[in-house]
Amino acid sequence: MNDLMRRDAISRVGITIAIDGPAGSGKSTVSKALASRLGIGYLDTGAMYRALTWYCLDRGIDLTAKEAVAAAANDMPLRLVSDPADPHVWVGEREVTQEIRDPRIALEIKHVSTNLDVRAWMATEQRRRMMEAREEGSGMIAEGRDITTVVCPDADVRILLLADQEARLRRRTLELYGDASEEHMEIVRAQVEGRDRADSAVSEFMVAAPGVQTVDSTGLDIDGVCEAILAYVDADLAFRDGQ
Ligand code: C5P
Repeated sequence: MNDLMRRDAISRVGITIAIDGPAGSGKSTVSKALASRLGIGYLDTGAMYRALTWYCLDRGIDLTAKEAVAAAANDMPLRLVSDPADPHVWVGEREVTQEIRDPRIALEIKHVSTNLDVRAWMATEQRRRMMEAREEGSGMIAEGRDITTVVCPDADVRILLLADQEARLRRRTLELYGDASEEHMEIVRAQVEGRDRADSAVSEFMVAAPGVQTVDSTGLDIDGVCEAILAYVDADLAFRDGQ
């Protein structure tokens, strides 16, 4: 199938694509590229956890006060622009797209992402966005840690994107510092390993759940990973659109 045929099929049957994986596996880059090619929305679920962390810090809410943080999720006027070519995150009138990438957020986010009431709220909200897009005759690709398992276990296409540890660290370091020097790699290693440890306490994202396809991005470039995932998209569309 080419992209035109895929878009055509999606306009008839809609699509939900779930992609999970650890930090630096290439999820965001690949998800944005795929969403652009398929003409569907892009949902960065990590940005939602980041935005809530930002919101609590901004309001002086103690991140360890579980109930207050869960209540803040309900109150937060979050607006996500799901255009994959130009995704934006707003909280009320304030654009926080860049600010939520600050290392200060990555350091504190574990208090928010290990809060089970917050996770339940996130799952409902994320699922609603995915289903709405599918019902509108379009679709959404959502990436995170628990999309294939908790948020959308019935997604049309479910992918676990992995890469070996050194490849992931190198990508993240290049992204953050623009180089992959030993010194910068070590700083990022400490951050990424700490975050993966905290995250794996609440989500399994290193082993594929039944029915989830594993794609290893270690030796592949972005196009290579996209093609590997598109093979599963094509199989799904041929099956559902051909019925
Ligand atoms: O993907 P990103 O690095 O922006 O995610 C930031 C953090 O948000 C993760 O380290 C994790 O703690 C949390 N997260 C999560 N579940 C998701 C997406 C992100 O717990 N589905």
